[in-house]
Amino acid sequence: MISRRSFIAKSTLVVTGAGLNSKVFSNSVLQSASKFPVVISTWNHGMPANEAAWEILESGGHSLDAVEAGVRVPEGDPNVITVGKGGIPDASGKVTLDACIMDEKGRAGSVTYLEHIVHPVSVARLVMEKTPHVMLSGKGALKFALDNGFSKEKLLTKKRKEEWKKWKKEQKEFSNQINIENVTEDNHDTIGMLAIDEQGRISGACTTSGMGYKMPGRVGDSPIIGAGLFVDGEVGGATATGSGELVMKTLGSFLVVELMRNGMSPSRACEEAVKRIAKKIPNYQQHQIGYIALNTKGEYGSFCINAGFNYALKTPDKTELVDAEAWLKKL
Ligand code: ASP
Repeated sequence: MISRRSFIAKSTLVVTGAGLNSKVFSNSVLQSASKFPVVISTWNHGMPANEAAWEILESGGHSLDAVEAGVRVPEGDPNVITVGKGGIPDASGKVTLDACIMDEKGRAGSVTYLEHIVHPVSVARLVMEKTPHVMLSGKGALKFALDNGFSKEKLLTKKRKEEWKKWKKEQKEFSNQINIENVTEDNHDTIGMLAIDEQGRISGACTTSGMGYKMPGRVGDSPIIGAGLFVDGEVGGATATGSGELVMKTLGSFLVVELMRNGMSPSRACEEAVKRIAKKIPNYQQHQIGYIALNTKGEYGSFCINAGFNYALKTPDKTELVDAEAWLKKL
């Protein structure tokens, strides 16, 4: 896997040490008005994903096509261990995928607990376009995908299987495996992508294999409209990565968009959503959450709990990996 650390962040920001009552650090410095198009996505696997999205955006295409094409890149890359093919399996050794997509008209599609399909984002798009529903899950989602021409593939790679076997041996209590010690920054890195095209249309996509060695049946925030992703064509979009349970409990992406609607910059809105988690969820310090947001002016921003989250950015002037500002100091 290409390590996130192997990328040199083009812009490194000072991390603020912040208690809940401390003065809010103004991160408006991160906020920049851009010419359209703009694409941003989570983590370093966002860099090649943005390039695929950019091909569509620079030729005047729709942001919906761009985000789908973009996130398909890590979905199809077996070396990205947190998305699509090559993803870390659940505790029983199955790779189960979650994804969703949303456009500027408020149309949305989602799949959860999908097995055997490399590109869940494209199935989610079909759910949006071909059904009266928003979300299909498990066997129903798989049947829908197969009925619509997707083919079954083996998602568990040899390497991931070996690691899973080793992990399984080490577990004392097989059912007791979900705690933060098992959640490292390398086993839960969803790609969330937001793009605004030349015509100012904003779309988003989010896709993941979820938390590594999760309990069988577990679905995280990523395919939940409003949690892992939300887009409002009049305001902007937001997407999340990290411990999905915290994002679900605070409906994070919806919150970010609503805060932008009320006038906050993307950076400030992401910061407020992280602060909401800090206020409401005990032990939040042991988790990572990263939000990114993009508004209809093409302004973008991010915020995270712990230092170490970054996002990939591409505009007509910039191609870079940016370190997100963090709520807690790096220990
Ligand atoms: N949010 C994802 C989940 O909880 C994992 C991640 O983004 O790292 O399934």
